[in-house]
Amino acid sequence: MEIRNKLSDDWNGIKEIIPYGFGWEASRCIDKLIKDFSIPFIIDNDPLKKGTDYKGIPILPWDAVKDSINCRKIVVTTRYRQYYKIAKSLEAEGYAYGTDFCNIKEFIPEWYWKNKKECCLYTVDMTVSAKCNFKCKNCNMFMPYYKTNVRYSLEDLKANIDQFFKIVDYVCYIGFIGGEPLLFTQLEELIEYVKLNYLDRVGNFTIHTNGSIVPSKQLTNAIKKYNITVAISDYGVQSPCRDKMLDTIAYLQGQGVYTDVRSSLEWRDVGFPESPCDFNDEELRKHMKSCSADWRGINDGKFYYCNIAWSAEKAGLVMLEPDDYLVMEELAKDVSKGKESLLKLSEGYFDKGYMSFCRKCGGCGMDNTKLVVPGVQL
Ligand code: SF4
Repeated sequence: MEIRNKLSDDWNGIKEIIPYGFGWEASRCIDKLIKDFSIPFIIDNDPLKKGTDYKGIPILPWDAVKDSINCRKIVVTTRYRQYYKIAKSLEAEGYAYGTDFCNIKEFIPEWYWKNKKECCLYTVDMTVSAKCNFKCKNCNMFMPYYKTNVRYSLEDLKANIDQFFKIVDYVCYIGFIGGEPLLFTQLEELIEYVKLNYLDRVGNFTIHTNGSIVPSKQLTNAIKKYNITVAISDYGVQSPCRDKMLDTIAYLQGQGVYTDVRSSLEWRDVGFPESPCDFNDEELRKHMKSCSADWRGINDGKFYYCNIAWSAEKAGLVMLEPDDYLVMEELAKDVSKGKESLLKLSEGYFDKGYMSFCRKCGGCGMDNTKLVVPGVQL
């Protein structure tokens, strides 16, 4: 099976592209794109960015450049709602998806594999602490339901990262997640290690926290030094310690750290572990497609299509099937084949058509209508 085939053949060998969108998503990938392509301008419709530039590349609104596209390919460097809005507007102007434009998330794995035989991913998460100081009823990593204490040492996490980069050439974004990642007390050492060894192979690092722990001075220094984003989930009145979270935000912003405060979170009840779903084989394929989970995971020397499935097994609640994940040490025995296998799994190609845990999990797609209030505590 071909790895993706969303781009028309005339994307092959292109030397020039036009990124559309210069927000947070673009910050993950723009330096990689600048390194590998000529970029005449970046499109962004924010009036505050009009006339500014990034490393000498002008940032201009669509209306100012729409007559200068000249058959060049557009890579939309935004996601979710923002992406659909831009895609709709491009289609309304006669541009076709896959031929004239595509999304960065699709572009990165397909173009680099087809043109350079490189294994490039858009996003991956790594759990640094399978422990949390909150007890969210609908935690999609099932943290309150873990049957045993799981701890990672710095050496475990370094080895995990090393195995990953034996196969993966570049990743636009690595998220350090938990549990609560700030409960891992050697986070700054991990950051230093990854930056020292893989600096030019990662676009952006983000730490995802509930904001209840103010980072130490040393960690804050590492965050600042390497321009790491801190994403803070704001559960509003449900938060067990919102005042502390506000203190953390004020502290980080005062230190000049880029914080991404997420207050409009949308959570769905996936059913598991209390009332697991039971999709049949036929439903499962559609269900997994509808979910289109965005949570590739690297944990315990393995690569997972969905980190939620990894966590369900780590919690001692299920046993995954061997083809639900890839063992990176195995992939490294034949790196070229390993890259291809990893890209395929990352795109959701499973021989049986789905991942086993999807049978029990309600997922996060439109077929799961059970919206719940985020952050409700057990
Ligand atoms: S339905 Fe499958 S892919 Fe979606 S979140 Fe659940 S386990 Fe992950």
